[in-house]
Amino acid sequence: MALPVSMEDTELFGKTKCLDTELPVAGIKLDVETFDQMFNSLTKLWWSRLIISVRGYVINYYLKSEETIFLVDDAFINLHRAIVEGDRDTAHQILNDLDVVTNVKDIGRVLDDLASGVQISEEIHPFFMPATQDAFRRVFGPAELRTYYSAAKQKIAYFVFMRIFAALQDRWKVQSAKKKSIRFEEDPEWQPDDRVVLFEQFFQGNRTWVLTDFDRHVLMCWRPHGVAVIFGDRYTQTKVDEGYKLCSHCGMLEQHPDQFPGCPKCLDAFYCSKDCLDADEDAHTKKCH
Ligand SMILES: [Zn+2]
Ligand SMILES: [Zn+2]
Repeated sequence: MALPVSMEDTELFGKTKCLDTELPVAGIKLDVETFDQMFNSLTKLWWSRLIISVRGYVINYYLKSEETIFLVDDAFINLHRAIVEGDRDTAHQILNDLDVVTNVKDIGRVLDDLASGVQISEEIHPFFMPATQDAFRRVFGPAELRTYYSAAKQKIAYFVFMRIFAALQDRWKVQSAKKKSIRFEEDPEWQPDDRVVLFEQFFQGNRTWVLTDFDRHVLMCWRPHGVAVIFGDRYTQTKVDEGYKLCSHCGMLEQHPDQFPGCPKCLDAFYCSKDCLDADEDAHTKKCH
């Protein structure tokens, strides 16, 4: 039995662009026992691709301004760090905190009000109420106007993630009630579509992806296999067969052929940037011939 995350799954990734449907609904509840089962059974790759998918979906469907993309990327990097790069405790912590955040009444409007400087008394201020202050500060930052501003932009990332996580948690419960053991299988055909990565017309009419902070973070986290994590094995292999090169340090894929300059001595190593050239120098010197 598997718990697939597919972009064609319209219950998870609806095709309507209506922000109102993403506001938290009462009843999203983190179930610790189910979460532990999921965390122990599902691979890091599964969690990473879940976050990649949700992030692409949010950015492609809900965002308009560049500035918001960077703030939303930070939210997804935060999720990726806690769930994929951390351990059970950091993953549990952030989901528990987001559970608290999304269950505050009218939280979408409250964050918008705080961001526009509306004064809210401390008894009903989520960054000051004893029951919620720790969760809000861990997720968004210290109680100050700058934090409220980014929280209002980042909330969509966390709301959509929690809605999708809650749906997956429910599916997991239904599955485990039916079967004694659940074995997760990664989808060998996993490949992103328009909702997963940011695409742009780029070079000589080619459609290619745009790298932002989140992509760079995932590339470095899975280095040097990050491209396959984001795009799937098949897409990556197709590009390599077509002559696209991968950076010898970070593993990033060229956006057009002959984009990355090679090592002038051996012509056997290619680098996406000066940073990667420098970072790989020691390792490469041993191999360079
Ligand atoms: Zn690189
Ligand atoms: Zn060389």
